[in-house]
Amino acid sequence: MSGVNIQGLSIKFGHNEVIKGLDLQVHEGEFLVLLGPSGCGKSTLLHSIAGLIAVSGGRIHIGGRDMTEAEPSERGIGMVFQSYALYPTMTVEKNMSFGLRVAGTPKAEIARRVDKAARMLQLTPLLDRKPAQLSGGQRQRVAIGRALVREAGVFLFDEPLSNLDAELRRELKLLHQTLGSTMIYVTHDQVEAMTLASRIVVMKGGVIQQIGTPAEVYETPANLFVAGFLGAPA
Ligand code: ADP
Ligand code: MG
Repeated sequence: MSGVNIQGLSIKFGHNEVIKGLDLQVHEGEFLVLLGPSGCGKSTLLHSIAGLIAVSGGRIHIGGRDMTEAEPSERGIGMVFQSYALYPTMTVEKNMSFGLRVAGTPKAEIARRVDKAARMLQLTPLLDRKPAQLSGGQRQRVAIGRALVREAGVFLFDEPLSNLDAELRRELKLLHQTLGSTMIYVTHDQVEAMTLASRIVVMKGGVIQQIGTPAEVYETPANLFVAGFLGAPA
């Protein structure tokens, strides 16, 4: 298990500063939801935590270690991407085990982890199918399973449930309680944020507007943007 500590983070694409001096402390074991409109920098922030893009300034600590320059594979993170493209020619089982096979994890350990993640996500009967033989919701489960098998301390989810699936949302909450990992979950959906989060971070234009429990941001919004975005009276 591990927390994530972000200090003075800046991300620029050319002259466009997309994340602007962001400070954020994600507590060990919490379910933090990043909420904000399209284009506000949510995916960029996740990608920088995962080590998929370089920072322009600031530091990122994961589990107490400075990981600002570390390779993605060194960071102890599992990630579900916004476009969770599954490998179309591979079975569900192969999709879930692929990253572990690449990393050289022993076969018996891979089998144990895939079995465990499949049972948690109700994928066991589907392990031999190909993605084309799955429903949209089942594909989302496979994308989540592919991250879970990493048994990481920190999981990053980039809008994994958009357009779906109230049941999977409930299961994800249960999974979080079972695993006890730190989860950072991106969405632009206010209802999803309110139901999943232990704390919500509301972002706009690469700047944090407010951090608080769902009740705090709903009942005492920090500014008109937060009030309007959550649909509560100012
Ligand atoms: P969100 O996930 O909140 O919708 P993003 O993090 O994807 O927002 O994007 C934030 C801003 O950064 C947008 O204006 C987007 O166009 C820009 N952006 C994201 N990735 C890149 C990139 N690789 N190159 C240039 N601009 C980018
Ligand atoms: Mg995004």
